[in-house]
Amino acid sequence: MTTQDYRTRRPLRIFLSYFRPHRGLFLLDITCAFFIAVIDLAFPLISRTAMYHWLPEKQFSIFFTVMALVVAAFVLRAGLYFIVGYWGHTFGILVEADIRRDLFAHMQDLGFDFYDKNRTGQLMSRLTTDLFELTELAHHGPEDLFISLVTIIGALAVMFSIQWRLALVVCCIIPVFLLVVMYRRRQMSQASRAAKQKTGAINAEIESGLSGVRTTKAFANEAEQQRRFDGANEVFKTSKRNFHKEMGFFNASMELFISLLSVAVIAAGGWLIMKNRLNYIDLITFSLYITTFISPVRKLANFAEMFSNGFAGLHRFIELMATEPTIQDAPDAVDLTDVRGEVALNHVTFSYDNGSPEVLHGVDLTVRAGETVAIVGPSGGGKSTLCQLVPRFYDPDSGTVSVDGHDVRRLTQHSLRRSIGIVQQDVFLFADTIRENIRYGKPDASDAEEAARRAELYDDIAAMPDGFDTYVGERGTLLSGGQKQRVAIARIFLKNPPILILDEATSALDSVTESRIQHAFDELSRGRTTLIIAHRLSTIRAAHRILVIQDGCIAEQGTHDQLLARGGAYARLYHTQNLGEYHG
Ligand code: ADP
Repeated sequence: MTTQDYRTRRPLRIFLSYFRPHRGLFLLDITCAFFIAVIDLAFPLISRTAMYHWLPEKQFSIFFTVMALVVAAFVLRAGLYFIVGYWGHTFGILVEADIRRDLFAHMQDLGFDFYDKNRTGQLMSRLTTDLFELTELAHHGPEDLFISLVTIIGALAVMFSIQWRLALVVCCIIPVFLLVVMYRRRQMSQASRAAKQKTGAINAEIESGLSGVRTTKAFANEAEQQRRFDGANEVFKTSKRNFHKEMGFFNASMELFISLLSVAVIAAGGWLIMKNRLNYIDLITFSLYITTFISPVRKLANFAEMFSNGFAGLHRFIELMATEPTIQDAPDAVDLTDVRGEVALNHVTFSYDNGSPEVLHGVDLTVRAGETVAIVGPSGGGKSTLCQLVPRFYDPDSGTVSVDGHDVRRLTQHSLRRSIGIVQQDVFLFADTIRENIRYGKPDASDAEEAARRAELYDDIAAMPDGFDTYVGERGTLLSGGQKQRVAIARIFLKNPPILILDEATSALDSVTESRIQHAFDELSRGRTTLIIAHRLSTIRAAHRILVIQDGCIAEQGTHDQLLARGGAYARLYHTQNLGEYHG
């Protein structure tokens, strides 16, 4: 399905389309559910026949044979329950996995602009909680609805065939019963959600209390900390109590209605017996049918809840799937091959969002193949923005960005980005070994060691407890900032792209690390077109050309000496940095 389909098709149709590949399992689930209902419905009828014929007529052999068959039917029913529980859930999980696969793939297609506007945490919950609720609906929804309706309608049909007046009494009570139980069930879930939130809050309080215990002690603030904790604990108690109160109401109303139904049947049935319109056997049969209502009513109450949660999840899923990626390959896009590495911006104007202020105003720039251009300027001037247009993370509002004379919008994103290596300040490492993190630059590469050597990282890694197999922790927490940057550089050595975009780290690195990174950068940029967002003098000196970007325009450009001689913005930045204050 395309994003267009997600926009135009009805939600239910989209949902059911995920059932199709697993319809065999679905049918198995529903068929088993149907036979469970049939067995439930048959039991009171068999008892009735026994009381009517086999027992008074002393046909004990038939009676006991049938009882043996009933036992067999119940064993079969247990087996069917197992199939429903196991294969039904498997079906749900297969649907969930397919939905999640599509959602994840779609999220990978969405551009930087989407991730600028949406928080990762929220997106995560869409991929987990929302989809879980959707699966619950996929699996339990049709099965519960079907099994409950078959049982209730079947039981009522049998009841009507036995004595319609008594069945009518039951028929009037059931809807009220259902409404009350559904209402109580909803109240219970709301209270449960609130209690979960409060549990989350108290867990956060405990965590921050324990991890900040040193600070607490240093300030001798134990009493204050205890007071905050007591507050959260009190809220937790109240909300938990509230949940249990609602649970009590729910269970009590279930019990009450079942008893009321039984009493109503006995009372109305008794009256009918007095009027000679009913006999004891049928009254007992009715009572037996009342007990078959318990489970379907419970299931229907669950279903209402599941349906609203599942459909809310479905709507959020469809909303995401219907979001068109802003950056897409043109239908006639071609691969960028035999890259020389010339990068050009032609009258480029850019703003992050429609209506937001312009960040770049008519920038013109040509970087020759193999040239190293340092970009400097005050923070917020647009340096990173300019660099992000080259790999087409964003498209300009007007003007063109081109590589080797090809407008990047006419190239496939994959071939374009394969030709560009990017080292960002904030290096992202995956929770894996250092070797795998380096190999991320080129997953089929074998020589992570050589890349690490060239990135001046080898000695650091050799000193680690497990060498290249050292686990770097979540997001690389076990590595220093300088080491992370050099992992990023090693990745690019493996990737070996003709164009480089380097964003130097601004964080204070010690001078040894700094010079090693500088050395690695120099080695990396040899023979490649390089755009480097420079924060340090050393980088600036090595560049063939320096651009000063200020307020979204190229304010000056030239070599270090030319710009110094000019005595303009660059000269001012240079002198400030000499005093140790420049931070681009
Ligand atoms: P520099 O790299 O020179 O520090 P940037 O290119 O990061 O400057 O930022 C230029 C301007 O664009 C700033 O005003 C910044 O607030 C804005 N900006 C940067 N990134 C985004 C974004 N993802 N969404 C919206 N505005 C942004």
